[in-house]
Amino acid sequence: MIDAHLHLGRLKEPKLLLTQAKACGLSSFVTSSTTLDDLSINLDLAKSFNGFCSLGLHPCFIKNLEDFSYFAQKIAAHPNLRAIGECGFDKKSPLDFTLQQELVKKHLELASKLNLPVSFHLTSHGQDAVSLVKLYKVRGMVHWAQGSVETIKAYLRADLYLSFCTSSKITATMEEIFYITPKERILVESDFDEIKAQRMAYDVNSLYALVEKIAKIKGLSAKTLEDQISENFFNLYGGK
Ligand SMILES: [Zn+2]
Repeated sequence: MIDAHLHLGRLKEPKLLLTQAKACGLSSFVTSSTTLDDLSINLDLAKSFNGFCSLGLHPCFIKNLEDFSYFAQKIAAHPNLRAIGECGFDKKSPLDFTLQQELVKKHLELASKLNLPVSFHLTSHGQDAVSLVKLYKVRGMVHWAQGSVETIKAYLRADLYLSFCTSSKITATMEEIFYITPKERILVESDFDEIKAQRMAYDVNSLYALVEKIAKIKGLSAKTLEDQISENFFNLYGGK
């Protein structure tokens, strides 16, 4: 099983949890750093547990654009650093939309320079992100993909991968989204769940349950979809 987006650096005992998760079938993952503070722990975990790391400034965790210059200077090529992000748009961001847009552009420039895919966080303005993907000709994924069917179709037309989250509510719209998303574009993720983190749990079984749900809607076996997700993951992030 693959976990395309989670935050191991925020967990109390990530090594213990990863060891348990590996025993339950977790084969690889992308652990996301949203500030520079947890970058070294995430890179270390990615290296030791056969995973990858992504790095970006989350729109909710940044105070001003100058933070990005410092951040960009600190980024150096690392074999386990395989994506830039999460970056994107969020109504809860302290930055207004124009500044958030500037911040996304800076991430896309960096991704383009380092030839890395982008991990998007889009709780709003999905169509604006799609325009920027086309403008900067970057590839990438939308983490915790949800929203209207129209927005999802726009992501797919921009060749973005969609990562579905175990904490997502499975509404009728979500079921339609699972149905219309080609299997070659699907990823799954656990992201970060404060309650589970408090309980010190990392539940790989919830990923299996989600894959089973999506597979059923698509008329596939869970194993076929799980294998396809693994292929999609390495297509996007590069070899093991
Ligand atoms: Zn996240």
